[in-house]
Amino acid sequence: MSNEGIIYRVAGPVVTAVGISPRMYDVVQVGNEKLMGEVIKIVGDRTIIQVYENTDGVKPGEPVVNTGRPLAVELGPGLLHSVYDGIQRPLKVLNEQMGDFIFRGVTAPGLDRTAKWDFEPVVKEGETVAPGQVLGTVMEGTMLHKIMVPPNVSGKVEKINKGSFTVEETVAVIDGKDVIMMQRWPVRVPRPVAEKFQPDVPLVTGLRVLDTMFPLAKGGASAIPGGFGTGKTVTQQSLAKWSDAEIVVYIGCGERGNEMTEVLTEFPELEDPKSGHPLMNRTVLIANTSNMPVAAREASVYTGMTIAEYYRDMGYNVALMADSTSRWAEAMREISSRLEEMPGEEGYPAYLAGRLSEFYERACRARTLAGFDGSISVIGAVSPPGGDISEPVSQNTLRIVRVFWALDTKLRERRHFPTINWLTSYSLYDKQLRDWYVKSVDEAFPELREWAMQTLQQESELQEIVQLVGSDALSDDKKIILDVSKMIREVFLQQNAYDPVDTYCPLPRQFMMMKLIKKYSDLADKALAAGAQIDKITSLPAKDRFIKAKYEPTIDEELLAVEKDFDEQFKELGA
Ligand code: ADP
Ligand code: MG
Repeated sequence: MSNEGIIYRVAGPVVTAVGISPRMYDVVQVGNEKLMGEVIKIVGDRTIIQVYENTDGVKPGEPVVNTGRPLAVELGPGLLHSVYDGIQRPLKVLNEQMGDFIFRGVTAPGLDRTAKWDFEPVVKEGETVAPGQVLGTVMEGTMLHKIMVPPNVSGKVEKINKGSFTVEETVAVIDGKDVIMMQRWPVRVPRPVAEKFQPDVPLVTGLRVLDTMFPLAKGGASAIPGGFGTGKTVTQQSLAKWSDAEIVVYIGCGERGNEMTEVLTEFPELEDPKSGHPLMNRTVLIANTSNMPVAAREASVYTGMTIAEYYRDMGYNVALMADSTSRWAEAMREISSRLEEMPGEEGYPAYLAGRLSEFYERACRARTLAGFDGSISVIGAVSPPGGDISEPVSQNTLRIVRVFWALDTKLRERRHFPTINWLTSYSLYDKQLRDWYVKSVDEAFPELREWAMQTLQQESELQEIVQLVGSDALSDDKKIILDVSKMIREVFLQQNAYDPVDTYCPLPRQFMMMKLIKKYSDLADKALAAGAQIDKITSLPAKDRFIKAKYEPTIDEELLAVEKDFDEQFKELGA
């Protein structure tokens, strides 16, 4: 058994070594420059390693050293506000050391070793503690960061210190062991919880089409597939800003090189609308630009997920975005092909489905070891080539997640934003969340939602008829249905992410808007029955006011005024 061997073969990011006897997923140092890699396959005396750095110029015969440790992340104060690469190297430090783009052989710790944090104990000497329990707290910027007992430590607190410490200084002695604020956790292993709950609370996003029509539960997982330019990134950023998760982990898997640069310049500029502070104060950003090696991209989703689990363990609601998971899957495909594995569908490895489900299954709402209620909601963008979701990554993702937000190129062409298709999207959480909406918004919420969905469904059926024989063939009550569904689309479903008022719509307002549309529909039916002309109904002046109301700073008063206008103007039509 040896920890040192030599390189036998180099194939891009995949290096074969001989002379070491590692375990699967051990981290190894490859070549003279000690490039970081991970053991992904062992065949006889050959060890196959995926290397997280560019292997150009690395040659057979160079040394390989097994560290004997799995790929792990550092967890502790200082994560928030950080921008990391896929293996938790801070991009800022990498840039300072290496300049742009070439990050070879650089090791930079994930957590700053010099920063000091004011540690406030919450347990006393003499108390007995168990893994996951909170020992004390520090303020990480504006967030309360709970320092938890590490996984392998338990017993009597012999000493606990109050004061200012770095992440490597001892804050407590438990059962003879020095405890520091920093923990290491292997990224491919989910962190344990006491108990998983059924998700029955929505992740409130302020986007009407999501919250009302296709809600995601806190602790659930959703997929956003969509072709280029359909709004995946805008939607994810909107959720990062507005959803009621306290912590955001954003994993950017660069589509094109400059797209990631955009994320890197845009994200730090985003303002947290709830506090007015930078959104980065409660965000961890993981960035894989397209010039970074594929293996690091493969690892990045696990790095991000582990960080998300760490904040969940403190009792926070975490939103994890991966944009886009297709790039992650492509990294798997590339590595698999270098390994000369038997390819599955479209060249993706046979284990694609397994990897995707392992990832999404780490989304959960749970009682943490410390007894808190915490959650990780996962929102995965998928970018199928040509926008066609019949390809393997989309299909396998849809088999796992329970929420599907289908972005639609045709809606983009019609400038209908967000481009979420209301006929093909779905949420399988709607039943579980029903009680919450009844209690927290309104008793009538579920029926109103159901009514809106049915009206949209009717519209699509009627449109087929219209296309065949023209709208004149429709009876007046059918024309009203088309008029109402148009209102649902234009007033309710369309939402401008860039308008200061419309960008976020609180749930009571969503309900009020839908209630007004239903009111319009009921009054229109009544007016028609009383003999009013259809043109008079569809050209009601109050409709115009309704469409504009969502951009008015005094929107809630405007909506009340629209309600009054509906009453008065329909009265004139005999309703
Ligand atoms: P993708 O990530 O799917 O390639 P983006 O999220 O970058 O697409 O969106 C492309 C463009 O579409 C944006 O730059 C913006 O102009 C427009 N857009 C997307 N969503 C919205 C929205 N909700 N409101 C207004 N414009 C939007
Ligand atoms: Mg994008």
